Amino acid sequence: MAQLFYDSDADLGLLNGKTIAIIGYGSQGHAHALNLKDSDVKVIVGLYNGSRSINKAKADGLEVLSVADASAKADWIMVLLPDEFQKEVYDKEIAPHLSTGKVLGFAHGFNIRFGLIKPPADVDVVMIAPKGPGHTVRWEYQNGQGVPALFAIEQNPSGNARSLAMAYAKGIGGTRAGILETNFREETETDLFGEQAVLCGGLSELIKAGFETLVEAGYQPELAYFECMHEVKLIVDLMVKGGLTAMRDSISNTAEYGDYVSGPRLITADTKAKMKMVLADIQDGTFAKNFVAECEAGKPKMKKMRNRDAQHPIENVGKSLRSMFSWLKHA
Ligand code: NAD
Ligand code: MG
Repeated sequence: MAQLFYDSDADLGLLNGKTIAIIGYGSQGHAHALNLKDSDVKVIVGLYNGSRSINKAKADGLEVLSVADASAKADWIMVLLPDEFQKEVYDKEIAPHLSTGKVLGFAHGFNIRFGLIKPPADVDVVMIAPKGPGHTVRWEYQNGQGVPALFAIEQNPSGNARSLAMAYAKGIGGTRAGILETNFREETETDLFGEQAVLCGGLSELIKAGFETLVEAGYQPELAYFECMHEVKLIVDLMVKGGLTAMRDSISNTAEYGDYVSGPRLITADTKAKMKMVLADIQDGTFAKNFVAECEAGKPKMKKMRNRDAQHPIENVGKSLRSMFSWLKHA
């Protein structure tokens, strides 16, 4: 069983006297910056001229500089930009300021794993990747809790990279929940696979196909929405809390029997073979190559698919139903 590390395993004092530049102030950026600040770590924020986040970061009491100035001033440069913009910003504004002894940090290994960013050998390269959206990372911290995180060391010329990464994880609240060590390759490949095969890709298609099946058979779309979309969260909450067994304890025997006999009719050996193909595309760089090319072209296919799915009937039914759920407005 892999080891989890907690608050007592990490020394926040290692960040004393160091300045951390948080590059990007989006989902992860704002959470890391504010949690570190509340942990008494010196934080500055690096943003591009004209970024809408500048006023937000300033209003949150943070010093905002250009990416280049923040990178020059900081001992630790934490890259929290969208993955597809990291290489360009790194090449132009971060790399020139990476002097010996600095730390370069990430929250996802994509650019390092696929060789888009190639840091010089004399800087530590680390990853601290919270396993949750930035807003949860901030919210849990403010409530005295934390979101579990992965950490990884890619380069360690200082010999201290591991302790430093653990200190950073403590500063954002990760060690309150527990942090797990990995490497850039494993984190990147499992993260991409999870979001493609199960979490985002797999689940979205499963929901749409279920909804369409009911509606095409003549059932009311509102009921199809409840059965195939709304209740997903209720089931997943049970799984997260107690695994498949606890979920099956809570559902009716009818539902449990149907689960065992019909689930395997849908997710077959063929589905698993396809999952292996998805994983192979991730491992050999095919997915990364396609994503980079798509971004360079201005994301034409992505925009088309985004629009197509935004117009799916389940989205229209969902919108009107959700607007009638008084409880959702407070959730
Ligand atoms: P985001 O899209 O929420 O925000 C990125 C911020 O970068 C923007 O708010 C903006 O301030 C800035 N930015 C955007 N375009 C820019 C450009 N061209 N030049 C300079 N700055 C620009 O990003 P995010 O979701 O927080 O992701 C940041 C990193 O964290 C990624 O590596 C991602 O994989 C990783 N990560 C995200 C999550 C998550 O839940 N969102 C979870 C774990 C790891
Ligand atoms: Mg992920």
